[in-house]
Amino acid sequence: MIKNILVCGAGGFIGSHLVQKLKNEGAWVRGVDLKSPEYSPTVADEFVIGDLRDQEVVQRLFDRRFDEVYQLAADMGGAGYIFTGDHDADVMHNSASINLNILHYGQKSGNLGKTFYSSSACIYPEYNQLDSNNPKCFEDSAYPAAPDSEYGWEKLFSERLYLSYARNYGIPVRIARFHNIFGPEGTWKGGKEKAPAALCRKIAEATDGGEIEIWGDGEQTRSFLYIDECIRGVRKLMDSNFQGPVNIGSEEMVTINQLAHMIAKIAEKKVTLKHIEGPLGVRGRNSDNRLIRQELHWAPDAPLADGLAKTYLWVNGQVEELK
Ligand code: NAD
Repeated sequence: MIKNILVCGAGGFIGSHLVQKLKNEGAWVRGVDLKSPEYSPTVADEFVIGDLRDQEVVQRLFDRRFDEVYQLAADMGGAGYIFTGDHDADVMHNSASINLNILHYGQKSGNLGKTFYSSSACIYPEYNQLDSNNPKCFEDSAYPAAPDSEYGWEKLFSERLYLSYARNYGIPVRIARFHNIFGPEGTWKGGKEKAPAALCRKIAEATDGGEIEIWGDGEQTRSFLYIDECIRGVRKLMDSNFQGPVNIGSEEMVTINQLAHMIAKIAEKKVTLKHIEGPLGVRGRNSDNRLIRQELHWAPDAPLADGLAKTYLWVNGQVEELK
């Protein structure tokens, strides 16, 4: 039987890759987003351009039964968007409205099937991520809650919202906490890009022997997960009986300086790192994959360098095209 699937945020980075994967698996897919995917035309069977904050738009979406719903739409971006404080009201209002609408109208229609929600590593308390060498991000450490951004607080609220609909209305939900997903066709310029794409762009634009800017001292640590592994994890979680929340991330932790050097090596360029003031986020963060291994008998393991090579090639192509 062909599955009917709704992907919210289908014009975004992860959403557009997910639609591709679901179509390859033979599903019928309706995508919805404020915008079409930027870099490749969508392969969705139907693509609705619509604002998920608008109750009428969301109501109309549920005119048929969906076996699976993937909720990826959010007002989000990298540190330059989330950590400056300038977008806090929009981030909280827009993303919470989207989640409230989808659950309310989906449940009321009786057409909301198994529902995936994309939460984030940003829900983890700042007090556990002060040491760059030893961040704690196991799932149970989320409480007492103290995310370092309003983006993280909204994600935590929405996790609880999805779990409440599971508890009170029997909606089967699956929740993942993504840790820095990157890859081709992700935002790479404009202010919402994240570290891997931003560094790929800076290095692509730099001359051999040139200089690139890094926010802070570059000793803050993170792990980065390649998009294909992220999608694999999402599909495995949806096919499992585990509700989550569960981390979907890499355990290959690097400093931002190391990340820049890895990309420079791929680009075969020598670059000097110039450290400047900028929004930073927590000092250290890494995925903890014990729970995903236990519940899904799987965890991402592709080397960071492999994903970076593919991403650099794509970002470099974008930079060349703009010249
Ligand atoms: P993205 O910004 O590329 O995609 C989000 C999409 O949501 C965008 O296309 C945007 O237009 C759409 N959207 C926003 N407001 C909307 C509205 N009102 N109505 C309809 N569509 C709307 O981001 P992404 O990287 O693909 O992330 C997908 C999800 O995963 C998000 O919920 C994000 O918070 C979460 N997440 C991502 C990462 C990551 O590293 N990329 C990490 C943690 C969590």
